[in-house]
Order: sequence, then C-alpha cells, then structure tokens
Amino acid sequence: MLVAKLAGYDEPLQLVDHPVPDPGPGEVRVRVEACGVCGSDLFLQHGGFVGAPLPIVPGHEAAGDVDAVGPEGTGFAVGDQVAIYYIDAPPDSRYALAGHLNIGPGVRRMGVDVDGAFAEYVVRPAHTLIKPSAPVDPVVLAVLTDAVSTPYHALVRIAQLRAGESLLVLGIGGIGSNAVQLGRHLGAKVIAVGRSPKKLELARRLGADVVLSDGPQVAAQIRAETDGVGPDVVLQCGASAHLDELAIEVAGFLGRVVLVATTTESFSARASTFVWKELTVRGSRGFLPEDITDVIELYLAGAITTEHLTTTRRPLVEANEALADLASGRVLRTVLEPATKGH
Ligand SMILES: [Zn+2]
Repeated sequence: MLVAKLAGYDEPLQLVDHPVPDPGPGEVRVRVEACGVCGSDLFLQHGGFVGAPLPIVPGHEAAGDVDAVGPEGTGFAVGDQVAIYYIDAPPDSRYALAGHLNIGPGVRRMGVDVDGAFAEYVVRPAHTLIKPSAPVDPVVLAVLTDAVSTPYHALVRIAQLRAGESLLVLGIGGIGSNAVQLGRHLGAKVIAVGRSPKKLELARRLGADVVLSDGPQVAAQIRAETDGVGPDVVLQCGASAHLDELAIEVAGFLGRVVLVATTTESFSARASTFVWKELTVRGSRGFLPEDITDVIELYLAGAITTEHLTTTRRPLVEANEALADLASGRVLRTVLEPATKGH
C-alpha cells in the first residue's frame, strides 16, 4: 500500500510502498477514505513533537471503512463506517481512568507516536473507533474528528463557555474557524481576530458578531466590543507568541484563556495581569472520543458546517502539496483521499 512517510525533520514526506498491516487481537484494519492535513502535521514535520520517533507516517484526522477485524471479537464488522479517535491511552493510567484519555504518560498518538493515516490502510485498536449514528460523507467525518472536535473540547470541556458570554477567537484557521461557529451555536457573542480579509470574511459567514483585523489597535477594539473590560473567554488558535500575549492581555475579569495552538516560541506575561483579573489560563490538548460523538450529532442536526474544510481534496501522492498549501495559508485544510483509486 502507498504511504506518505516523514523520514527526517524539515524534509518532504516520502511516498513509499509499505506492506498492508494485519490486525491483531482487539484490532481493526481501516481502509482510509479520508485524512485531513492539519497544522500539527506541519508541527511534526518541523520537529515540534520532541521525542517523536522517525520515520513516521503522519495523519491523525481520519475516517474510513472497516476492512478487516482481528482474531478476537471487536464489535465491528467489515464495511462499518468509522471515525478514528487518534489516541490510544494505557487502560490503567490514572488519567485515562478519570476520563482524560488525551493526556498522561504512555498515550500513543496515531500519526505522531505510531504510524498514522497518510496511508491506504491503518490498523487501530477497536476501542479507538467510533461508529457514527448515521452515514456521514467520509471527508466530512475526517475533519469532524479534529478540526471541529478540538475547538469543541476547548470551548465546552475546558472553557465551559456559557450562553450570553463573550468569546474572543484569535486566529481563523482550521481550528479557529470552527471555534467561531461552535461559539455562535453555544450562544456566545463571538469576536474573531485574524489577518487575512478572506479568513475574516469566513469568520463572519460562520457566525462571528464582530471581525477584527490584527494590528496595533486590536486590543482597544476588543475592549470596546466587550463593555471596556475584555472577553469572558479567549480561545487562542493562532500559532504565535504575539497572540498568546494578546490573549492574556485582553481577557476580562475572571476570564478564561484557553491555549489551543502550539508554537515553539515563548511568550512573556506579568503576574499582576493574572492577579488583577483572577485570570485562568489553561491549555487544551486535542479532544476526547465523546467530543467526536457530540460534533457528529451537531453535524447531523445541521448545527455546523464543514464546507470550508472539505473543498480541497487531493490524492495521497499529493501529501506534500497539501502541506505546502497549509503552510502558505492558501487553505484551512486539505483532505487526502488515500483509498480513492483513479487519481
Ligand atoms: Zn490535528
């Protein structure tokens, strides 16, 4: 089978042939119909995940059909549609036991720690697979598992955003754009900050009440839109230290700042800013299987759209072009279609 493999940091992916893997006990082989190309694939490519083993097949935002099941019962049948939850947590981890499958020692991330879905087939533990309650276009199902589930986790589980609150979204990319539409759905006043007019227009279309271009006046403009005090929740979805600092600077009293984007840059802040406003600053790492289940239901109910994420599709052989498009900001997402023949 064809895979796109990262053999060295800052290098292009190599398109190579791998043997089709066989599922062991408790495992399922998934024919990968769709896999999104995400900012964290670029982060991986450029060495951001310290300690990630190389070579590695990236790809963590995937959906497909069950192609084979392992020798013991898995609860899945050949042909079942599945979304892949990319993390396999050690079952005895105290974090996993408390429901935090996304963190703790020993979590194995598909596409970071073990080979991922930039491949025609991937073998996964059956307990990491999710059957949608109704059929979903696989390209849509793939982006629901990360681009939408990540901001959902950040807004619902970490920030606990409530209707009537103000939400500032910094960075209108694959994550931020969905934070905007989810914030709107949850009943918040949504202020979106981005750089390109095209992305601000998208934020407007997805339900932002206010869109602001990032610049020297932006902090004052954000305060003006929030009764002079700053937003209740800030979701920092842009990978830059400047935006980390802006998030903390403009958050309102009792504000919850949630850092979602990752950058290798450091930021600085004064303790007094946290003290004066009793700020909470938290990171939000990925998402949980129940976040995927929830956003699938939101999609099936017509509450959210994925059109802005699924218009650019490429065959797996164009994985490098997809990464280049993402790095340049030309697209929010490209969805690779590894199992689609005839490209
Ligand atoms: Zn991702």
